[in-house]
Amino acid sequence: MPRHTDNLILDLPGKGPERVVLSAHIDGHHLAESAMDNGTGLAAVLAVAAELAPQIADFECGLRIALFSLEEWALAGSAAYVDGITEEERAAIRLNLNLDSVAGSANLTVLTSEFPELETWLVERAAMHGVSLGAHRPLMANSDHYNFARAGVPAARLVAGFDEPESNLRYLLTPADTRDKVACHTSGLRLR
Ligand SMILES: [Zn+2]
Repeated sequence: MPRHTDNLILDLPGKGPERVVLSAHIDGHHLAESAMDNGTGLAAVLAVAAELAPQIADFECGLRIALFSLEEWALAGSAAYVDGITEEERAAIRLNLNLDSVAGSANLTVLTSEFPELETWLVERAAMHGVSLGAHRPLMANSDHYNFARAGVPAARLVAGFDEPESNLRYLLTPADTRDKVACHTSGLRLR
């Protein structure tokens, strides 16, 4: 039986044509609450959007909130989005920052998709705000940032508990991905 779903896109223009795309996947899986993956990313993106929306018109670069569906189905939602926009629109995207499973461990890592300058910028910016970010540069096809990166757009995924087998992130994609696993404190960032 055919099924239909949508990506949810909110465009907040700045002074110029360029955009930062801040994304999180909105779909989960049927096993549990999908609390870490990706309730945490969704909550963080919505908090940033609410904070920045009243100010974006004064920024040079606008903000586009992208809540992608079908991430858990081979990144299909973001693939449809990236392949469906014009070359001009794609060229105007300065950065995709993708938040997927951003709590459950105190340690945050950026997966920087072979963009070394982006990696330096993100790690330095986080440090300015008192957050220590790990970095992993190889292109990882493990969330929606991948589709931006393969199209040449600087793209990174922020993830908690990367390469940390004892963290709560080990419960991802299992029935134990429940809200009690989310609470943790990172330096300068609290999600609950
Ligand atoms: Zn995910």
